[in-house]
Amino acid sequence: MLLFQDFHPLVAIATTPTAAQTLQPLCHSAGGTLWLPESLHTSEQNNDPTVSFYQGSLKSHIASLWQNHRAFIFGLATGAVVRLIAPLLQDKSSDPAVIVVDETGQFVISLCSGHQGKADQLTRMIALQLGATPILTGGSTGLNLPAVDMVGIPFGWQRGEGDWTGVSAAVAKGERVEVIQEVGSTLWQNHLPSGHPFVFDADEETVDVNSANSQSINARIWISFTQRRFSPDSDLPKVQWHPRVLWVGIGCERGTSRELIETAIIQTCQRHHLALSAIAGIATIDIKASEVGLVEFCQAHDFPLRTFPAKVLRSVTVPTPSTVVDQAVGSPSVAEAAALVCSERFSACSERFSASDTNVPTTNLLVKKQIVRADDQPGAVTVAIAVAEQEYTGRIGQLLLVGMGPGQLDQITPAAKTALSQADAVIGYSLYIDLISPILHPGQIIESLPITQERQRAQRAIELAQWGLTVAVVSSGDCGIYGMAGLVLEELKAQGWDGKTPRVQVFPGITALQAAASRVGAPLMHDFCAISLSNLLTPWDVIEKRLNAAAQADFVIALYNPRSRTRIEQLTIAHRILLQYRSPQTPVAIVRSAYREDEKITLSTLDKLLDIPIDMLTTVLIGNQSTRLHGDWMITPRGYYRF
Ligand code: SAH
Repeated sequence: MLLFQDFHPLVAIATTPTAAQTLQPLCHSAGGTLWLPESLHTSEQNNDPTVSFYQGSLKSHIASLWQNHRAFIFGLATGAVVRLIAPLLQDKSSDPAVIVVDETGQFVISLCSGHQGKADQLTRMIALQLGATPILTGGSTGLNLPAVDMVGIPFGWQRGEGDWTGVSAAVAKGERVEVIQEVGSTLWQNHLPSGHPFVFDADEETVDVNSANSQSINARIWISFTQRRFSPDSDLPKVQWHPRVLWVGIGCERGTSRELIETAIIQTCQRHHLALSAIAGIATIDIKASEVGLVEFCQAHDFPLRTFPAKVLRSVTVPTPSTVVDQAVGSPSVAEAAALVCSERFSACSERFSASDTNVPTTNLLVKKQIVRADDQPGAVTVAIAVAEQEYTGRIGQLLLVGMGPGQLDQITPAAKTALSQADAVIGYSLYIDLISPILHPGQIIESLPITQERQRAQRAIELAQWGLTVAVVSSGDCGIYGMAGLVLEELKAQGWDGKTPRVQVFPGITALQAAASRVGAPLMHDFCAISLSNLLTPWDVIEKRLNAAAQADFVIALYNPRSRTRIEQLTIAHRILLQYRSPQTPVAIVRSAYREDEKITLSTLDKLLDIPIDMLTTVLIGNQSTRLHGDWMITPRGYYRF
């Protein structure tokens, strides 16, 4: 459900029993309502809360759902869907996502609002759930490029004025598109395919429009807080993205109206050519936290209202301090100081400002304190604007802790695949990232770190999620078995996590012991346990104790991390312990790289275990006293009594 929340409320519509059967499980997993004609009503559907029935014409029913749903999944012929929705379509910036699934669920088509309505994303997600082929026809998809009107979405950037169609067309044609990025994250630039059409502003010779080199530039993207007016006569299509980096500090008299606050901010921004959509939020002193006009203004624009006690504000050096203000509220500055404090808090991924921090640089201040009054409005407002190094995303971050199974794509659960396809950022060990690359798509931030840096990987994931991104952390096998889930949750707990934000969801995967077992038959079957021989994070005496106990208790044992280039002794000691309790003839399976290209399986007996090549990609399974080998199979009986 968490995965599909961007698409809620979501509806699916089918008019035949086959299409209803295809869409019903989808509605369960995605958390949507399936609408069927009254004629398809059967008694068993009465108990299914996800199914509803419409009466009368489908056309008028869809019209009644259109405005208040974010996504429509149709189990109808594409032609019928086009006719049904044609009169309802208005604008790609406001229309819902519309996708079509064929009756038997083999194909999922992104029909309308592919980018801004996120129909392309929903299509990929639904296709992964159904095991279907996603059909995306947008220009940038085929080029393996992120869409121009989507690149800033993970970071909460706002689309500004411009010729979005013109610039997108230039990208689709492979023309050179200049990018002038003044603020905001550059993470989106890190995973562009080679031969991408973007020319970054660092390439000096192409910046001057009048130079000969500029001939080759066919479109331009500005990423800044400046409000630019583009001439309608220009043949160069241009667009502007606005990362939310501006913090507006506000001071106001009691009873100042919402209108006056709004006018003051709009006027100040216009005078300084600042884009209103680059505003991150509003900052003020704590005694104004319930000032009605200010609260109403923030609610209307969905701006966060950040407030600070006088003792924090007075510690900030500002250009325009006032003794009158100091006497009234206990700080010589409200607007300038509050804007500066907020801008500083957003100068790193996490909010790291503390009350004792007094080194807020005044260079962040773009607009010094302005006082605005209006004859017809009560009160007075002071406005100051500071710029933060990092944008405010306005999004609640998510951590998707994903187990990707042993290594073959079809061993990953559909839910895990959906999670991976939906993430803004995917973090994991490079080998695993390579294995899942067919599921990933352009525009995703991919960060791989060496295998030894699990803790850094967890911290990076948390940092991005706290900033507002949806981050998938990938482990091989199951993420909760010697995987990243524990590390991430442990680290979150250490950071004082409230258990809610960022949101966390864990996606299980097939762990190595199951994968290995499946290749040799049924060696686990009965009571079994897993023991990792790695003493990097566990003291060796604990491991030895467990080996003794498990061997004595006749558990089938799966040894993870059996031997590395530097840890050689551990397996020898384990072997000695096992032989104290188990017959030398006990069957063992040595499975290396299960479900990967270089898979190698060896069946043997405990006495010969150390003669077989074993490394870090290997899982060793040791049978119990009833386990037997039978040809290429290792079988542990379901119970003891039959042997
Ligand atoms: N989270 C993983 C385990 C990571 S610990 C899981 O649930 O499977 C790493 C160890 O897992 C390796 O040393 C090896 O013992 C085992 N392992 C992981 N993938 C494997 C595979 N494809 N085949 C055999 N063993 C594997």
